[in-house]
Amino acid sequence: MCGIVGFIDNDGSTLKLVEKLSKLEYRGYDSAGIAYLKNNDYKIIKSVGKIVKLKEMIQVENTCVAIGHTRWATNGKVNEINCHPHCGERVIVIHNGVIDNFAELKEIYFKNKDFNSETDTELIPYLLELFLKDCDHLTAIERILKILSGSFSFLVVDKKDNNKIFFAKNKTPLLIGLG
Ligand code: GLU
Repeated sequence: MCGIVGFIDNDGSTLKLVEKLSKLEYRGYDSAGIAYLKNNDYKIIKSVGKIVKLKEMIQVENTCVAIGHTRWATNGKVNEINCHPHCGERVIVIHNGVIDNFAELKEIYFKNKDFNSETDTELIPYLLELFLKDCDHLTAIERILKILSGSFSFLVVDKKDNNKIFFAKNKTPLLIGLG
């Protein structure tokens, strides 16, 4: 079991993100990664092993939009490439769970595309970017939910619409807090 966390917070920081991520440690994980908004772009940091190791790699910086992931590998080895977040050109995703039909979808939508990682997760940013060519985020996510099977929840940030976190879930829990 892994964990995903994200916030939109005017007083947010990388430290706050790591603290929130640490609260998910009890669930078990093999690696961790974050993406956070800084100077209008997203910085991504990943590490195999404990969150304390990730923490050492992270500068304490203010950030108002951030997402973080603890991975429990289901598809692909435990290594830095397979660590989340996974990105396309603009979309960045962290994902908890398993997409059962990812190999089939990869074949249908991205037959000749090289994937960086061995994960099922990497499909999500590519699919989103494909669908975002002709619709907005919510519609793109709705379209994705119609074709993905499995139990999963995921968070999405987009470099082109960078002050929001989009999210979706199927079967696994996802809590949203306000304030
Ligand atoms: N299936 C994804 C992977 O292997 C997510 C696993 C998880 O829930 O951490 O990267």
